[in-house]
This record gives sequence, C-alpha cells and structure tokens, in this order.
Amino acid sequence: MIRVRFAPSPTGPLHIGGARSALFNYLLAKKNGGKFIVRVEDTDRERSALEWEENILASLKWLGLEWDEGIQVGGEHGPYRQMERLDTYKNYTDKLLEAGHAYRCYCSTEELEADRQELMEKGELPRYLGRCRSLTEEQEKEFLNQGRKPVIRFRVPEGQQIVINDLVRGRVVFDSDGVGDYIIVKSDGIPTYNFAVVMDDALMNISHVVRGEEHLSNTPRQVLLYQALGIEAPKFAHISLILGKDRAKMSKRHGATSVVQYKKQGYLPEALVNFLALLGWSPEGEEEKFTLEELVQEFSLDRVAKNPAVFDIEKLNWLNGVY
Ligand code: GLU
Repeated sequence: MIRVRFAPSPTGPLHIGGARSALFNYLLAKKNGGKFIVRVEDTDRERSALEWEENILASLKWLGLEWDEGIQVGGEHGPYRQMERLDTYKNYTDKLLEAGHAYRCYCSTEELEADRQELMEKGELPRYLGRCRSLTEEQEKEFLNQGRKPVIRFRVPEGQQIVINDLVRGRVVFDSDGVGDYIIVKSDGIPTYNFAVVMDDALMNISHVVRGEEHLSNTPRQVLLYQALGIEAPKFAHISLILGKDRAKMSKRHGATSVVQYKKQGYLPEALVNFLALLGWSPEGEEEKFTLEELVQEFSLDRVAKNPAVFDIEKLNWLNGVY
C-alpha cells in the first residue's frame, strides 16, 4: 500500500515549493488508493511556532489537500507532531547506543570550531573528526563531572558507497567517508531532523518519500540509519527546484512565495493547485486545465521532470481565468 507524507517544519508560511511537494504526495496516494499523512516537524524549538503550523495546515485545507491520518482531536484528526513523540525516539536512541551504532560526544564548541578551521585550511569539507568515537567509561564520567552535556552522534561506517535509486533523479551515489558522524540527538535530548525523519518514516510505514531536491544531500545519512536499524528504506523521489523566470531560485524578489499570499490576492485554490501540478509534472496530452480529481486520475511520478521547473505567473493568471 502506498503511504506518503508531507512533513513541514513550522518555521514559516506554506511556501509554493512545499505546497507542490504536498500536492505530489497527495496525488500519488489518491491515485493508488493509498494514504496521505501530514507530520509537523517541530523539533527546531527556536524557529518553530504554532502560528506557522496553523498557517501551513490552513493553506493545505484551502488547497483541498486533506490528510487521512493523525492524532485524534475532538472528532477530527490533527497532524502528527514530532514534539509529541519524544519517548518513541528515545527508545530507538537507546538501541542504537547499545548496538554501538551511536555514541555520546562531549566535544566543546571550541574544539569543534578548531577542527572546522583545520579542515578548511586543508581544503576539506567540514565534518566531525571522531574525537569521542571510542571513549572509555572513565573518560565519559570525567566529562560529566566537568558538567559537559553530551550530544549523541551516529557512527557512520567507513568506506561505504551509498546508492540511492531515486524515482525522479535516477541512480545517485554517495561516499560515506564524506559524511562524518552526525548528531542524532542534541544535548537537550531533542532529536535532530535526520534521526526523527527516519524514525517516523519507518514507524509510519511510509512507502515513498517525495520531497524537494534540497533534501537529496540528507538522504545518504538517512539511508545509513535505516541500515543500522535493520529497516528497509522507503523509495525516494526528489523533485526539482522551482526557478523564477530569470532561472534563479524562486525567492521573494520574484513575487509572492507563500500560498496565503496568493489566497489574499484573490487567486482560486483550483487554479493554484492546477498550476503547482504543472511545475515539474507534465500531462500526457495537450490539455493543461485539470481539477484536483482529474489530477488524481492523470498523475504519475514517471512524468515528473528532473530539470528545474520555471514559475510563470502568466500561466497562473491564465488558469485563474479559466476556472
Ligand atoms: N521538515 C522538512 C522540511 O520542511 C521535511 C523534509 C522531508 O520531507 O524529509 O524541509
């Protein structure tokens, strides 16, 4: 069964790129009789805000992208929220520590900064150099006595090729040596994105991860975690960037970037959904006007392009006129 998710971080309004990811996930699920899940990734406590969560959920509903599952709140289901799942992550962190796939790291900011400088001087990419990889119990006690608070790092296996058969990008190969042992739990006990995302995708039985290309570089880290946990990774599909007409990455200077801005400007949700679908996906025939139901019938990941999509406001205006 196809189970997909849209996993926004509530750190800003729903961006058109996020809305397009949500839409492609929704279409893939509905086309195949699967489930579409919304999961709020709110572990970045400094940048997350309830206001943004509300904005994102309201924009999804306005577009007609209702989710199928979540925490029950008075007759309705809300989305899943990572901050409500901390105990679940903790169980798996303990397992990874016991199996030696993870370890506690007590390095200070100064030590890490010195390593970073050293690597930069050598012209190498910044990564953790493994100072705490094999501490003895005594050394750990000593650090704790000094009042140091550890983070937990994933022990990245050396010399391994990580192959991702991406459904949009094709075969992408990474080398584990460039990854560096990365943090999975911060010193305040809150998991990082790469860890929480893997746990949730695994525990929620997600079959396909469809998300923006900016996450492709995180994927090898996630694949290594699946391997360590002995869990089969989902299929990945990384969709291309959205560019402005000048071929630079779409940003505020190209015009409105959030769904709510288009809503306020009087655009119809049907027109915006139709427009977002055409940003990267191409229908088989000449027809370009599709309702959400028609998109569900027509959609397939094979017709999602690898090359960037160009945001053309005239197309949106035209679509807005035909609804
Ligand atoms: N929370 C991530 C974001 O908003 C989601 C990444 C993912 O889909 O794995 O960028």
